[in-house]
Amino acid sequence: MKRKNTKQIFVGSVPIGGQAPISVQSMTNTNTKNVQDTVKQIKGLEKAGCDLIRFAVNDLDDAKAIPKIKEQISIPTIADIQFDYRLAIASAKSGIDGLRINPGNIGAKWKVQEVVSACQEFGISIRVGVNSGSLEQKYIDKYKGVTPEAICYSALGEIELLEAMGFTNIKVSLKSSNVNQSIEAYRLFSSLSNYPLHLGITESGRGMQGIVKSSVGLGTLLSEGIGDTLRVSLTDDPIEEIKVGRQILKSLDLLKEGVEIISCPTCARTKIELIPLVEKVEKLLEDKKTPLKVAIMGCVVNGPGEAKEADLGITGGNGTGLIFRKGEIIRRVPEDDLLEALLEEINHYELGE
Ligand code: SF4
Repeated sequence: MKRKNTKQIFVGSVPIGGQAPISVQSMTNTNTKNVQDTVKQIKGLEKAGCDLIRFAVNDLDDAKAIPKIKEQISIPTIADIQFDYRLAIASAKSGIDGLRINPGNIGAKWKVQEVVSACQEFGISIRVGVNSGSLEQKYIDKYKGVTPEAICYSALGEIELLEAMGFTNIKVSLKSSNVNQSIEAYRLFSSLSNYPLHLGITESGRGMQGIVKSSVGLGTLLSEGIGDTLRVSLTDDPIEEIKVGRQILKSLDLLKEGVEIISCPTCARTKIELIPLVEKVEKLLEDKKTPLKVAIMGCVVNGPGEAKEADLGITGGNGTGLIFRKGEIIRRVPEDDLLEALLEEINHYELGE
């Protein structure tokens, strides 16, 4: 899939745009100034594969916590600022790597200029975050409602303001909780501008609904080559956002890391207790970083064929299972020993034995 070649910027050490790997981000839901809780959550997110972390900076105590948080974590940080330009400046002075602001919410031009000057001084990028729920009225009037055009041109207006101040260290998000509207807004923006895009479907909900909305919205755009970084917004533990975001990238071959499990949906032909076996394998292999395709199939109808595509695979027989490596049968084992045998073979495979 050909990705759009956007301008490259950096948030700390992480490149965004210009064909850099698509980074996955999340946002903490701890009280930022509670350094211990915030660091604990970020460390869990780092372990799950989070590339960038954003937290709300609601007052000066939150801004003062930034250096204490940063010294205990290893991924770049982004301060989410709502209205107060002084908090953006305080965050910049405290060592933040990126800011998420909506210049339209900051108010007077001189305040935006002060934020821009601080970002220029400290080499900090800005995400212009436009949200369908807080569009300026002039765009709603001009485009007859909250439309993809209103969202897109609102972002372009904000960018013009920053560019007029000589600032181009920018990435952009155009969020809506409506999937079609988000897709159209991002497509339109991508056809008009070269700034890197942060993808997200905002307030997408919890559980399956949130995962499906995000996967459809982000997946559609990514498959068209649009998007340079992403956040899956879920009403859930932020670790779930990282897992889903990474899975979306993996399913489009945009992230080649960790284990991909190919397993059948099961049917009346299933010869082994497949579902618990898949759950156990998933859990045991979830922290692996090396790319590995593992097929776990219920019977010999499709099993060997699918296993051929995988690095390693299991196919169920009557109370037994066959283990395949690159399409070749290497072992036949009793069903009770399948899990252990598969893990052994994965170890051999990784060691090149
Ligand atoms: Fe059914 Fe076999 Fe297909 Fe699994 S692989 S769904 S058990 S036919």
